[in-house]
Amino acid sequence: MCTWARSASAPGVPVDVDQWKWSCGFYPGCDPGEFSDGTAPDFFTARRQFEAAWRELSAGKTEADYQEWRDQRDRTAQKYAAWAQGEKPSPPSSMMRCVCGVRFDSHKPAESYDHRAHIYAARAEGRR
Ligand SMILES: [Zn+2]
Repeated sequence: MCTWARSASAPGVPVDVDQWKWSCGFYPGCDPGEFSDGTAPDFFTARRQFEAAWRELSAGKTEADYQEWRDQRDRTAQKYAAWAQGEKPSPPSSMMRCVCGVRFDSHKPAESYDHRAHIYAARAEGRR
């Protein structure tokens, strides 16, 4: 949700810049303009700034916003759990089965032209 990062851990960050970076916001549920971030020379200052930002942000948020974020988190968790069990996301397929029983590639006009006529005719007759 809200995140913390210590920029000092990044290689090449000079020691005389603020060592603590914070950011506040969550997605989905927040508009891009509602995100805030900042840096501070020490953890306690960063934490104070972060808490102030969070209070400001959360004051304008509704339960529905948090629910949106939770739903997205749950969907993502389910997706990864399915992948972990060896389930692969199915690639979008252009293959269709015609009412006449033939499988054809709907992205290939030459293949699909005749079957399109079959399908439209079947729909017009009220069967599928
Ligand atoms: Zn057909």
